[in-house]
Amino acid sequence: MRLFLFSLLFPLFLTLSAQEDEWLTYYENHDYNGTPRYTETMDFCRRLATETDMIHIDTIGISPQGRPVIMLVIDKDVNFTPEKVKQSGKAVLLVQSGIHPGEPDGKEAMLLILRDMVVGNKDLRLLDHVTVLWIPILNVDGHERYSPYSRINQNGPEEMGWRTNAQNLNLNRDYLKADAPETQAWLRAFNRWLPDFFIDCHTTDGADYQYPITQSMETFGNMDAALTLWQRDVYLPAVELKMDQAGFPMFQYVSFRRWHDPRSGLYVRVALPRLSEGYTAIQNRPGLLIETHMLKPYRVRVESTQKLILSTLELLDKEYVTLKELNQKADDFCASESFRKTPLALDFATSFSDSVMVDFLGIEYDRVTSDLSGGDWFRYGEKPETFVLPMFNTILPSYSVRLPEAYIIPPEWTTVIEKLKLHGVSFQTLAQAVDVNVNRYRLKNYAWQKTPNEGRQVMLKLEVDEFTETVSYPAGSVLVLMNQRTARVIAHMLEPKGPDSFVYWGFFNAITEQKEYAESYSMEKIARQMLQENPDLNQQFTTWKEKNPELSKSSYAVLNWFYQQSPWWDVQKDLYPVGRIMNKIDLPVIE
Ligand SMILES: [Zn+2]
Repeated sequence: MRLFLFSLLFPLFLTLSAQEDEWLTYYENHDYNGTPRYTETMDFCRRLATETDMIHIDTIGISPQGRPVIMLVIDKDVNFTPEKVKQSGKAVLLVQSGIHPGEPDGKEAMLLILRDMVVGNKDLRLLDHVTVLWIPILNVDGHERYSPYSRINQNGPEEMGWRTNAQNLNLNRDYLKADAPETQAWLRAFNRWLPDFFIDCHTTDGADYQYPITQSMETFGNMDAALTLWQRDVYLPAVELKMDQAGFPMFQYVSFRRWHDPRSGLYVRVALPRLSEGYTAIQNRPGLLIETHMLKPYRVRVESTQKLILSTLELLDKEYVTLKELNQKADDFCASESFRKTPLALDFATSFSDSVMVDFLGIEYDRVTSDLSGGDWFRYGEKPETFVLPMFNTILPSYSVRLPEAYIIPPEWTTVIEKLKLHGVSFQTLAQAVDVNVNRYRLKNYAWQKTPNEGRQVMLKLEVDEFTETVSYPAGSVLVLMNQRTARVIAHMLEPKGPDSFVYWGFFNAITEQKEYAESYSMEKIARQMLQENPDLNQQFTTWKEKNPELSKSSYAVLNWFYQQSPWWDVQKDLYPVGRIMNKIDLPVIE
């Protein structure tokens, strides 16, 4: 279907009567181009909750600057706990806005939807079989770093919040490592409720095109197969049609092979678990990423977001039984033996040898060489133009791992153990020290990124040696059985070569540090003695020098090489402390 943008400008939502003017939102009162501050947003939510019985307000956490992070529970039958909602048989939809406060479209959209439901009795039937959870502003501190200069590429609202939290962390990179208090609050709420469907509202940057809104779901083989099919064949076609009919043509959220240059071709990629929808995917729950288009007027972006949330509610109203069953089956499958018997793909890559041709509603543009920067300057015009473009949408696993029956973590890795709890992972604790035969990894040939990533020193390059040995684990060690619904999450955290693993994020960097050193006056003597006692060592030394010409010029490196071959060397250096138990065994655990 072909639509022009001017058709998007007509308001589609309910027009309120004069006596209801007091219920206009801040956005409506500010010419559809303003967004309310934290306090005004909270006040409006509280007014709604006072007006109706069906809204309950929970505080799910406190931000680093002390602001409550709230979540509204919206249920027609006043079921406000996960237990009661579960009993009612309804599906749970979690909507999140304001993770990036500079992109507040979702906050406006949900305020309008709830206002229309509570004051205008509109669309209330959509709550017959669905309980809605809504986090109006996840990044509450970032939201209050308020300015007209937060988003240079974006067309409104006039002023808005800032992308990161007060600690300068991007919460939408934090889902797996969970460093920020706001993320930790989100994880506790998520695991308490285990919503059936998740929506995260954003505004994109990038090239210009006609679509006011794009979406992404994890349909690339990185989540449960049956849920993937449901998203691809049931959910997406239904909402795409509704969006088209409403005048909001929607496309998949894509990248361009060359920056800013749609004609270069389109490609898709898997969302890593550091991202919201990538995280819910490994928790066996469909996640919809909404990215409205930054150059479209704020009103068009808000109204398209509103329409997509309402279309989702309509679909969930029909599909709630099926979706809940699929989610339960995905959970059961993750806990099953057959799941563990198949290698699990943790990383993926887009194949650039396979593509399909698609129609893409672009905007005409030209490319000139800039006399200022010397680079390509993409100048977008006004004229809509349909491009027929190659879309690279074949995604292949690039790293898979053989799963263990259980992981075992020594008790000193307290931060890692705390994170397991946040992710809803069940584990047991060893009642006494035991010797366990485990498969384990030694890290090698690693390198870190030169600049920090989200405040962490991340490991960009890593190889491992895999071997089996019997290890003595002390009492208090943590035994993480894989026969649980979070098996994908556990593997992503604990497999070192996973793209968002705790090794990648630097939780285990200390194990790579050499903590004892040989002085030259000791090592010069001992090295000579070692060469005398072990005739093979000379050959090994020669080989090492040939392989490491630069290092062999350093007397320190040479002596350290001999230190490494000596019994004084720290055998725990580079040894990943998390063991993998490959066969079922009974261990003495605290009940
Ligand atoms: Zn965003």
